[in-house]
Amino acid sequence: MTNFEELGLDKRIIEAIKSMGFENPTPIQQQAIPQLLTEKRDLVGLAQTGTGKTAAFGLPLVHFTDFSKKHTQALIICPTRELCLQITRDITNFSSNYDNANVVAIYGGASIETQIREINRGAQIIVATPGRMVDMIDRGRIKLNAVTTVVLDEADEMLNMGFKEDLDSILSETPEEKNTWLFSATMPNEVARIAKNYMSNPIEVTVGKQNQGAENIEHKYYMVHARDKYAALKRIADFNPDIFGIVFCRTRMETQEIAEHLIKDGYNADSLHGDLSQQQRDNVMKRYRNRTLQMLVATDVAARGIDVDSVTHVINYNLPDDPEVYTHRSGRTARAGKSGVSIAIVNMKEIGKIRDIERKIGKQFVKDKLPTGVQVCEKQLINLVNKIHDAEVNETEIEKFLPQVHEMLKDLTKEELIKRMLSEEFNRFLDYYRNAPDLNADDRGRDRDRNTSPMGQGNTEPSGRFFINLGEMDGMDQDTFRAYAAEVSGLNPFDFKRINIKGSFSFFDVDPKQAIAVYDSFQFKKFNGRKIRIDHSDSKGPSSGGGGGQYGGKSDGGFGGRSRERSSGGGGGKESWGFKGKSSGESGGGARSGGRSSSDGEKKREFKRRRN
Ligand code: AMP
Repeated sequence: MTNFEELGLDKRIIEAIKSMGFENPTPIQQQAIPQLLTEKRDLVGLAQTGTGKTAAFGLPLVHFTDFSKKHTQALIICPTRELCLQITRDITNFSSNYDNANVVAIYGGASIETQIREINRGAQIIVATPGRMVDMIDRGRIKLNAVTTVVLDEADEMLNMGFKEDLDSILSETPEEKNTWLFSATMPNEVARIAKNYMSNPIEVTVGKQNQGAENIEHKYYMVHARDKYAALKRIADFNPDIFGIVFCRTRMETQEIAEHLIKDGYNADSLHGDLSQQQRDNVMKRYRNRTLQMLVATDVAARGIDVDSVTHVINYNLPDDPEVYTHRSGRTARAGKSGVSIAIVNMKEIGKIRDIERKIGKQFVKDKLPTGVQVCEKQLINLVNKIHDAEVNETEIEKFLPQVHEMLKDLTKEELIKRMLSEEFNRFLDYYRNAPDLNADDRGRDRDRNTSPMGQGNTEPSGRFFINLGEMDGMDQDTFRAYAAEVSGLNPFDFKRINIKGSFSFFDVDPKQAIAVYDSFQFKKFNGRKIRIDHSDSKGPSSGGGGGQYGGKSDGGFGGRSRERSSGGGGGKESWGFKGKSSGESGGGARSGGRSSSDGEKKREFKRRRN
């Protein structure tokens, strides 16, 4: 294996990266760095996040920068603020042994005046998100005429996010005579177009197979009934006491609700989605990075560019419609040579999506069984014993209390003491899982209670017609229902068709392809304090009374199994000591209310007002 010394980098850079703990170059660094150092050329790098691509372009960039001059020599464009800050941090570290090095981040959501002042101080390297960069150019506050290298990082994500025109206008502001280095996890046509239009005879560097999930990610799925998804999520978390995960949801509202349920149930969790202010997002990310949070519940857009190492689990609460999005999600784990698990919690009809993704990533999912309550308890017990065994003891601090403690415990044998100590924590867990149901759905996809499924009885395809227990009595007419359903589901109001509003209930149609998503999105919802119930209706006409029958028929049985699992969590954090035990002060509502600003409180009140 080549080492860093052999790549030809300046000694000051090697010293800097050694102190960052980099020992040997990653494969993309081995391929790209020597080529970029020997010949000033364009480059196309196909690499996932986590492969070390920032250093692959960042180290040569620092090597070529003349920090004795003040003008801007390199420009890095990346899709998100998160990534922008991460790259800025990395490059600042790489250049820490150079006097006068100034790497400046330019991104939206922060004061443009401060950023302009930073540039005016002399920024040899600028890292920018496309929107803010265009803003700077339009205001004439940035000079790019002496830029010699432009890096486009995560080009595919930038195009996914609609930055095509911004990229074109930024690139046209830079000198003809420059080198362009483009990095992308995938090479769709649009990225190929940029490479073709703006680059000449680029070096091509590929790490791993194009479009393929990283090798060290294990892809698993659990098959559950739609109504059991949340219970399944909890069980996965409880079975993995040291989980440091990201839970992906489809809509902002679902993200917020799942996070709120997790918090209420005592988990160190919070949500990240587009309704949060930049400050709130920063706060959530800070707590996630420093591991105060163990589970981050996020939408795809909000999670773009999240660059946190050591994520152990990516959990797909819902699978995305586009297999490409799954690749981005799963790529949040198994970074920097680590391994990770990407889990999909699916119901029977989502299996087709699993197969689509398998084709896309060229890897098979393993179907796994959710652990039983007993297995979870065993795992938690062993974890607790390990924690006690390895606990750090502060000898001097605890010394003074020990005589009193010994006196108090003197009538107990060692065996009794162990049992009591463990029981103190363990009983709560045991209580919760004592009668926990088996959540695994049967292999052939039969539902224990078909009436609660969004699929029609005996149907193999999901039907798009639904019954819902909201009607005129709830102030609904077609328009209000459309608006409300769109808000809950994240779909377009006009995706809801053939709406038939009755007194206390209604019927509506959606595209059958969206039936599962719609069904899922109404779970946990309340309206005027009443739990919303939604059910598949296989009646073909809006006036059919058949749906009413289903409604009546389904009432209790459908939610019985789930409510046991969920409602037994009523004691707040109690049943989840696996998380809470770690830092009770940080978990639950405390962490959340502490972490959010008052505007968030207002948002939540508004949310509740509308809901209840
Ligand atoms: P990236 O793909 O650039 O986001 O890098 C992923 C992670 O790997 C970052 O935390 C880097 O600091 C780390 N990293 C990059 N190159 C190396 C290396 N050669 N040795 C150890 N860690 C590295």
